[in-house]
Amino acid sequence: MTKRDPEKPGRRPETMLAQAGSRADTQTGGLVAQIQPATTFARRPDYAPTADGVIYGRDDAPIYRELDTVLAELESTAAACTFASGMAAIAAVVRATAGRRGIVAQKGIYYGTTVFLRRHCARHGIPLTEVEAADSGALEAAVREAPPDLVLIETPSNPWLAVVDIAAAAAIAHEAGALLMVDSTAATPLVTRPAERGADIVVHSATKMLNGHSDVLAGVVAANAVATDWWAAIRAERREAGAVLGVFEAWLLLRGLRTLSLRLERAMANAARIAVFLDNHPAVRTVLYPGLPQHPGHDIAKRQMAGGFGYLMSFLVPNGADGALAIARGAETIARATSLGGVESVIEHRYTYERGITEVPPDLLRLSVGIEHVDDLIADLDRALSAIGD
Ligand SMILES: *Cc1c(COP(=O)(O)O)cnc(C)c1O
Repeated sequence: MTKRDPEKPGRRPETMLAQAGSRADTQTGGLVAQIQPATTFARRPDYAPTADGVIYGRDDAPIYRELDTVLAELESTAAACTFASGMAAIAAVVRATAGRRGIVAQKGIYYGTTVFLRRHCARHGIPLTEVEAADSGALEAAVREAPPDLVLIETPSNPWLAVVDIAAAAAIAHEAGALLMVDSTAATPLVTRPAERGADIVVHSATKMLNGHSDVLAGVVAANAVATDWWAAIRAERREAGAVLGVFEAWLLLRGLRTLSLRLERAMANAARIAVFLDNHPAVRTVLYPGLPQHPGHDIAKRQMAGGFGYLMSFLVPNGADGALAIARGAETIARATSLGGVESVIEHRYTYERGITEVPPDLLRLSVGIEHVDDLIADLDRALSAIGD
């Protein structure tokens, strides 16, 4: 955890990101953060640590401080804390906050979160309700019926692209004395800052757009209430329970963040064009993308997302799983692979993973849009869609 730098007020995120870590090396003046792989640090003769608080690699390291500072400024929260993966971040929040009153979680969110919540709650006898949280009335009813410790939402959701009104969810959670956690992976902090809308805890899989190059697993938890027991417990999940990011990964993430604003801008512009292309294509039944005016969450997204509607979309095709797999097979420029938020576009058939466990339909394809030339991506989708005719 590191506080935002009070010396640099009002700096725009693009500027902060472009220079992330570039002033950290005061010894040589190198414009890039240093990697210090040491897991242990010498003490001075008086037994004080050489650098303030840096004693052992799991506890703290200069690169974690640098990264946590950048991420807190980006999210506009008092503090941020990186973890070894997005799931390590989410698990830390769940373990630190959910007790006897349990969890009300959004239905149809990231598969790994759903699976973790079900297993964790079953094992520890923690009540878990899954609810369609994009419907504020349904969320409110679920929270009233069994007031939880934690309300967990994901917006836009993966892979449904459901949009949840964060301010409404925060009011519902707080009325019941619960904390609101928002997984904001598909939005990114340049588009939505959930803490400014009342969320207590913001998490990201930094594996996705924040790092952006499909070469690092990392997670982030950000919050304002750093004087709370739950924040101390979240921090302890990294430091004491050991869910710490490796220093090389931390360095790569810091490097990836330096181009976040440009990568996201291009990916979102591409996504907007592709959503319209798919929407007009006769072989596509429905496009799930918050930027389309007919999307049920479009009005909330317009309020809650700035500068674009994200880089992730799903679309439904004819002929069920066979149709979806035929289209995936036809893709050449776009890789058939899981994950999202990389510079390269990927297409994914979630039903192949999730069948029988979630309600993901067989005819859904998820598309993470990268930064390639949009005309190449559209040509590839056009070719792939011709696999099932129209
Ligand atoms: C990928 C993802 C996660 C999990 O992150 P990992 O870094 O893979 O552990 C959590 N939430 C969402 C929305 C994701 O897309």
